[in-house]
Amino acid sequence: HNPHLPEVLCKTSMRPLLPARPGNAHKGLVGRVLVAGGYRSYTGAPSLAALGAYRTGAGLVTVAYPADCVVNPPLEAVRLPLLEWNHADLQAVRAEAVAVGMGAAAGGVRAALAALELGKPTVLDADALHKQVLSAYVKAGLPTVLTPHPGEASRLLEIPSEQIARAPLEAAQALAERYPGLVVVLKGGPTVLAWQPQEAPLSPPLLAVNSSGNPSMATGGMGDVLSGVVAALLAAGLSAWEAARLGVYLHGLAGDLASKPGLLAHEVAEALPSAMRQLQ
Ligand code: AMP
Ligand code: MG
Repeated sequence: HNPHLPEVLCKTSMRPLLPARPGNAHKGLVGRVLVAGGYRSYTGAPSLAALGAYRTGAGLVTVAYPADCVVNPPLEAVRLPLLEWNHADLQAVRAEAVAVGMGAAAGGVRAALAALELGKPTVLDADALHKQVLSAYVKAGLPTVLTPHPGEASRLLEIPSEQIARAPLEAAQALAERYPGLVVVLKGGPTVLAWQPQEAPLSPPLLAVNSSGNPSMATGGMGDVLSGVVAALLAAGLSAWEAARLGVYLHGLAGDLASKPGLLAHEVAEALPSAMRQLQ
């Protein structure tokens, strides 16, 4: 039972969170993002995350991926092919936030544990979403956002995904209580969020429900774009709870602006600038 009413994310409440771009902005100042993911046939995922980050205003995006796969990130991204997931190579990247796990398959856990040593605000998605990873991030106490879809939440909570679809707020709350300090973004229609602040372990988690987004977004790659959006907002200096809420709202709004039958994830990324303009 949680006495907190969920906050409904809307234009009015999200507008003040949008980072301002100062007149003297340069690419090193507005937030740089490291995307770490990809494996064999999953090479689109990190590229879509990179696109999502750039379209949310990141100053520079670097994509790290296993050297034996062909990843084609946006022309504007820096590429970092790696022989193995390790902390030393990631440490060399200039970034203020990290998004890890998209399309990483079996490498997801190693990628996430290597990224943890960077000590930076992080988005954990897809193949980074394993219990050992989440426990390690709780211990580190860094700003962290996890973005499971119902299938991934089902794996973490060990309950059927149908139960999660039926009662998403309860599932998000259960994850937030199990991993205090980590912001939970449980994706779906609608996406719901929960956060148990580590400094207030006895109070119930904060909850939020998104009001943007639509079923045309139920296609491959859509969640990868979201992880890049949230990482860009973390890199711009927002807290994990702010970046997750604004990121989810913007991503859904972009999906609404671009909505059509057959909508593709990269088209949602391309609509992010218009979504941000609506909040200005
Ligand atoms: P993923 O399954 O990781 O690709 O994530 C899917 C993304 O699309 C999430 O951000 C979802 O919130 C969004 N999405 C999927 N289906 C819907 C829906 N029916 N209504 C609103 N958003 C949706
Ligand atoms: Mg996904």
